Amino acid sequence: MTFEELGLSQKVLQAVQTSGYTTPTPIQAQAIPPALQGRDILGIAQTGTGKTAAFTLPMLSRLESGRARARMPRTLILEPTRELAAQVEESFAKYGKNHRLNVALLIGGVAFGDQEAKIMRGADVLIATPGRLLDFFDRGKLLLTGIEILVIDEADRMLDMGFIPDIERVCKLVPFTRQTLFFSATMPPEITRLTEAFLHNPIRCEVSRAATTAITIRQILIASRGHADKRETLRNLIRSAENFKNAIIFCNRKRDVAILHRSLVKHGFSAGALHGDMDQLARMASLDAFKNGDVSLIVCSDVAARGLDIPDVSHVFNFDVPTHSEDYVHRIGRTGRAGRSGVAMTLVTEGDMKYIDQIQSLIGKAIDWEGPGFDALPPPMETIRPQERRGGERPDRGQRRDRGRRPAVEREAPIRRPEASEREAPIRRPAAAEREAPVSIGRPRGGRPKPEAERFRSPACAAPAAERRERQPRRYEDEGPPVVGLGDHVPSFLLRPVALKPAKVGEE
Ligand code: AMP
Repeated sequence: MTFEELGLSQKVLQAVQTSGYTTPTPIQAQAIPPALQGRDILGIAQTGTGKTAAFTLPMLSRLESGRARARMPRTLILEPTRELAAQVEESFAKYGKNHRLNVALLIGGVAFGDQEAKIMRGADVLIATPGRLLDFFDRGKLLLTGIEILVIDEADRMLDMGFIPDIERVCKLVPFTRQTLFFSATMPPEITRLTEAFLHNPIRCEVSRAATTAITIRQILIASRGHADKRETLRNLIRSAENFKNAIIFCNRKRDVAILHRSLVKHGFSAGALHGDMDQLARMASLDAFKNGDVSLIVCSDVAARGLDIPDVSHVFNFDVPTHSEDYVHRIGRTGRAGRSGVAMTLVTEGDMKYIDQIQSLIGKAIDWEGPGFDALPPPMETIRPQERRGGERPDRGQRRDRGRRPAVEREAPIRRPEASEREAPIRRPAAAEREAPVSIGRPRGGRPKPEAERFRSPACAAPAAERRERQPRRYEDEGPPVVGLGDHVPSFLLRPVALKPAKVGEE
């Protein structure tokens, strides 16, 4: 099938041609013709399938007639995150370059003024995150009664982020007669209920199960201990990765994104961060730096990175195993796109094994392990209890070992140590002056870096507070008998005899 056969307008076809696309993707081939006829669409497709163009192209064709009125946008696209909203805006700029349409972006973290001015001028296309949209609506700055087409994108992510009540509210505020284009990578029951309530006789277009992972992605599991060990393992993996160009590193929590980012920078890696607590400008700057290749690593939370279209990502690292197995599919789908090959490595602690089981059953295959198993890993000092150090075995130790569930031979397989030259290759090597820098906070610039162990002990240590706390020895690491009272160190003035007055009659 060709784009000409889909029924798109000449202006849109020209823009598609300029983009270099020759053949519609399956979701485009299925969704565009009925969308042009004004039918509701239920598109089950994940990012990377070309779904943005699947709704953008027919919208552009349909918007060629008519014009917007002040405060009354004609079409509304809801996106779960600011980055996705900005990405859709870019698509409109690309595919709509032959149109004179007003496109407005309503996202949090940006001043109200400019956004209001655009809406006042009359927006043909309004791209918004639910919170900021309803904020505008509640302030009386926006009317939704002129909406002809409503797009709800990444609905399952909206569900994860608690936006479903907002979506329901928006669906009730827009005219009943609008066309709805609804996209979700998965169809959990809450999403099915939403589609039943708000879509009118939709055409269902399904391109691939969310559980499928591209065959172009090589998936690997790597056993690791706690967070501090994971950081070191990650550094080694990045240094030794073959065909490394760049990597997205996922953490489960925003706090850990910040910690890992600082740690990587401190170790001389060129890394950015992306999480929900960063302001919008910082988020966009980070993302741009990664897209342009100014940094080769970006540490992300799921929410911030969901659906981002960054072509040509060579590696994905799951610093934390995702607790929702579908997130695993989305995360690793950031690599191996457009037929390229990619590598997805997941750092696994013993406590993560239940999530690994869930992921493997979702994707329908076992993921290969690489490197030493849990048994062969050197135990981190802070987790060794005194009785273990003296050779004592805890009763459940054998059982805990079994949780690795890996054959002995596999457990022994060592990580391939890279050649010296390889180790240097994947990361952008900092210039000589920069190489001195990573540990510069709290000590003069340009000085010789202290050995790592010494640095961690230094009071002027550059490590963030949370990281320092993690390195604090645990209580049970203190050896020797417990100290009672002042122990042997009773000050001499307390040992002097004290003359007591005799008590008076009647006193107790
Ligand atoms: P999406 O799923 O919308 O995030 O799109 C994923 C990527 O596919 C984007 O980089 C698009 O530019 C690209 N793309 C969209 N449609 C086509 C097409 N028909 N042929 C080739 N690439 C496409």
